[in-house]
Amino acid sequence: MPKVNTLNFNTDWQYAEAPESSDHVQLESRYGHFINGKFVAPANGRYFKTINPANEAKLADIASGSAADVDKAVRAAKKGYKTWSRTPAKERAKYVYRIARMLQERSREFAVIESMDGGKPIRESKNIDIPLAAAHFFYYAGWADKLDYAFPNRRASSIGVAGQIIPWNFPLLMAAWKIAPAIATGNTVVLKPAETTPLTALMLAKVIQESGLPDGVVNIITGAGKTGSAIVNHPGIQKIAFTGSTEVGKIIQKAIAGTNKRYTLELGGKAANIIFEDAAIDQAVEGIINGIFFNQGHVCCAGSRLFIQESVADLVIRKLKDRMETLIVGDPLDKNTDIGAINSKDQLDKIKYYLKIGVNEGAEMYQPSCRIPQKGYWCRPTLFLNCAQSHRIVQEEIFGPVLAVQTFRTVDEGIEKANNTPYGLSGGVWTDKGSKIFKVSSKLRAGVIWANTYNKFDPSSPFGGYKESGMGREGGLHGLMPYLELN
Ligand code: NAP
Ligand code: MG
Repeated sequence: MPKVNTLNFNTDWQYAEAPESSDHVQLESRYGHFINGKFVAPANGRYFKTINPANEAKLADIASGSAADVDKAVRAAKKGYKTWSRTPAKERAKYVYRIARMLQERSREFAVIESMDGGKPIRESKNIDIPLAAAHFFYYAGWADKLDYAFPNRRASSIGVAGQIIPWNFPLLMAAWKIAPAIATGNTVVLKPAETTPLTALMLAKVIQESGLPDGVVNIITGAGKTGSAIVNHPGIQKIAFTGSTEVGKIIQKAIAGTNKRYTLELGGKAANIIFEDAAIDQAVEGIINGIFFNQGHVCCAGSRLFIQESVADLVIRKLKDRMETLIVGDPLDKNTDIGAINSKDQLDKIKYYLKIGVNEGAEMYQPSCRIPQKGYWCRPTLFLNCAQSHRIVQEEIFGPVLAVQTFRTVDEGIEKANNTPYGLSGGVWTDKGSKIFKVSSKLRAGVIWANTYNKFDPSSPFGGYKESGMGREGGLHGLMPYLELN
């Protein structure tokens, strides 16, 4: 069998195999909200459809959440909180561990549905999204009865009901980031997945139901922005945890100003991936590819601005173009696919809009000649060369497989250009010199910096942004704090 080129975030699938089949998964035709341990119909009787962006086929009807549904869920969460917050921590941990194990047992089904609902390559959902989601539950289960060690000489207590709103790029993983630390610390939650990717959160609701977690501890309401807004504005909620766009993050900040609600905001990004002349070039090229094309570039921490030191720029760009020629765009359920479907028509329209802007701004566009399917939403991996700092494609988050390339001469110039952005979520540094890694990473104004690697995640590492990329941290010990009153 011929060897197939694969991105460096691949692990074990190197040879062509039959695509995963949707025959292995069981979807219901219609899903209600998950409130107080039961699936219930929406108060207004309205449903919307979620589709597979790779073929535009409908997958299921999903309950449309109104303010009445949110209110019902918050009441359930409040009631659940009375007992859950008093449940001994080691007992709480058992439920969270159980959820983690059940996710592992069903990981294949979760992976297939994640790829069908959102368009991401199965290799990513199977090797990254689902295992990491389970890892978050394991990690926070471990902390539940060790808070005295996490915060020595302080008394940690839960805060109440958390309203959690998540985006469509890592649907199950974002649900795990939100739910695991909240319930491990004794809070209860009302979570809303994104409109285009509700299915794995609803499958998680089923797992939670089967795990025996007491009713009302986790409630999941589906819907669109209005449903999210009803959660944000509900007076029965003590904390908002939001992951999404900077635009909506600002609306949420305004909405809760003057209330006692706490909040964490994980927002957009426009990360710099910086390649120095002394870097291992082939490794760096793989890092650039992974940095921007992982999950179709629908990644808040994507390395969407590339800075190459001038002396190696021609070499890096040539190798990058060669590598892009080998990328396979297509069926998310095919194990050899590198780049899956764009998550929605709206997102594809947004990306196309930016492609036009880039060309009009005078940057040079390059796309490989790969074939793309007729039906569904697709975008070829794209480079923009000769970009200027003032270009909109350099300053604004595109959230697609589009990389803006610039060069620099000195280390200081590289740092200055990298920091010239309203965002500050992440960054990458590629160099052979440890001292340069320390110098650059300490001067980059961003929450997560990778050195000689990119897009590596672990539940024990805190994640979060500077500037317009948000406030607060999720993950690690830091991720416990927003859910605790520390005295
Ligand atoms: P979005 O439009 O801000 O939506 C995020 C979530 O908020 C969705 O569930 C959305 O509902 C809901 N929402 C929309 N309007 C709302 C409102 N007025 N009040 C309350 N909730 C509201 O973002 P997105 O397009 O889904 O996701 C992409 C963005 O998320 C990118 O900017 C990306 O960088 C960011 N992101 C950040 C991180 C991080 O950790 N920093 C991680 C992942 C993604 P519907 O979608 O159902 O309408
Ligand atoms: Mg969908």
